[in-house]
Amino acid sequence: MRVFSASLATETNTFGPMPTGLSSFKDRGHFPAGKHPDAMTLFSGPLWAARMRGADRGWQLFEGMVAGAQPSGTTTRHAYETLRDELLDDLRAVLPVDMVLLGLHGAMVADGYDDCEGDLLARVRQIVGPKVVIGAELDPHNHLTPEMVANSDLMISFKEYPHTDVLERGLELVDICAAMVEGKVKPTAAVVDCDMIVTVHTSREPALGFVKRMQSLEGKDGVLSVSLTHGFSWGDVPEMGTKVLVYTDGDQAKADALARQLADEVIAMRDGLTVNYPSIDASLDEALAFDGGPVVLSDGADNPGGGAASDSTFILRRMVERGIANAALGPLWDPIAVRIAFDAGVGAKLAMRIGGKISPLSGDPLDVECTVKALKHDLVMTGLAGTPTPMGDCALIETNGIQIVLITLRNQAMGTDLFTQLGCDLAAKKIIVVKSSQHFYASYSKVAKHVIYAGAPGAVTLDLNTLPYKKARLPKWPIGVAA
Ligand SMILES: [Zn+2]
Repeated sequence: MRVFSASLATETNTFGPMPTGLSSFKDRGHFPAGKHPDAMTLFSGPLWAARMRGADRGWQLFEGMVAGAQPSGTTTRHAYETLRDELLDDLRAVLPVDMVLLGLHGAMVADGYDDCEGDLLARVRQIVGPKVVIGAELDPHNHLTPEMVANSDLMISFKEYPHTDVLERGLELVDICAAMVEGKVKPTAAVVDCDMIVTVHTSREPALGFVKRMQSLEGKDGVLSVSLTHGFSWGDVPEMGTKVLVYTDGDQAKADALARQLADEVIAMRDGLTVNYPSIDASLDEALAFDGGPVVLSDGADNPGGGAASDSTFILRRMVERGIANAALGPLWDPIAVRIAFDAGVGAKLAMRIGGKISPLSGDPLDVECTVKALKHDLVMTGLAGTPTPMGDCALIETNGIQIVLITLRNQAMGTDLFTQLGCDLAAKKIIVVKSSQHFYASYSKVAKHVIYAGAPGAVTLDLNTLPYKKARLPKWPIGVAA
């Protein structure tokens, strides 16, 4: 079997303050054909799964470009078209193939393209023709457009949020696609739009149980795969929203009925899924009142994984103003401050202006007297599913009893080793503020005694009713719906 794999992925926050250009892909990872490193990345699950299965089964593997960018604002037309065409050229160069496996996100938006994945998949289909199997692994924060479904044979989203199941879903994708090439199955898709948008934390009920429910249905009674599209509220496109995707083995009526049934179950549990976000001061009060620690405070509104700058100062400023010490905060994206810290050196005491640089959504910069506690070139954090995650040159500074990790490559807090590699003793802290909506949970829940999801201002604001939507079909619960 001749198998082609490749990836092109980013999650686009159309309200984000910075465009996503080619350098954004270079920063996070752009590996030309045949140059993928010997470690899985967040969106190269299909490539990695194909290597594993292909070795057992004697497949001929052709690895095309793998490129992923940290989420940010709308992708430039130049970046999208350049990378898309590189991937398509890689595919053309190895034809004929039996199977195309793509690692996509599903919420990539570029200038002139509300649905990058739909466009990419349509072009892939045009190149390979109707008989070649096309499969894609998606992030559940996708938009699941009709074009994506129509131009692929099978799409499987990560089920977990935090996305810890990249490899498991990749292996499922490869196995079902291979069975399709061998003529053993015929995936038949059904999509039901839940007409809502909700955050789905699978670290707790009711989503924890719903993941098990989806998995209990798969692999029997003709059901091949079940995926829940959580949706991505910060992508202003017509198809934004929570959806259920079911594939059966050739039984359209069954796929339709099951997708409808599961969508109704998701709608029924939406109040239980909804996360309450106390204000900054209420979050800090709750953390201080908690007996013991550490208490982890999620600053999801400034999560770079959702397209924010990761340099907002709203929470940090209140901590300094309130004299809250014995705390840690990170990662704060401030390459200029890192440069200054490296020049000053470990142990230096100096005045620094940190954060608050990218847009009004970052707040004002904070002027502090600080000590440089540690410096590390090219720090690599352990990301989801063990994927190595470069953070660039990093500095640990301390001010007012708060230790802050400054980074040069935007990435959210996923592994606690972001702090510990710099000598920051997280276990001894009362409060740890992380720039992350939920991916932090996989690692930080191991040190946290309590977790609070704070509602701060930012580019990934949790107050969806304040976002200036133009293209999304509204009202869509809870947006535009009276409480
Ligand atoms: Zn996601």
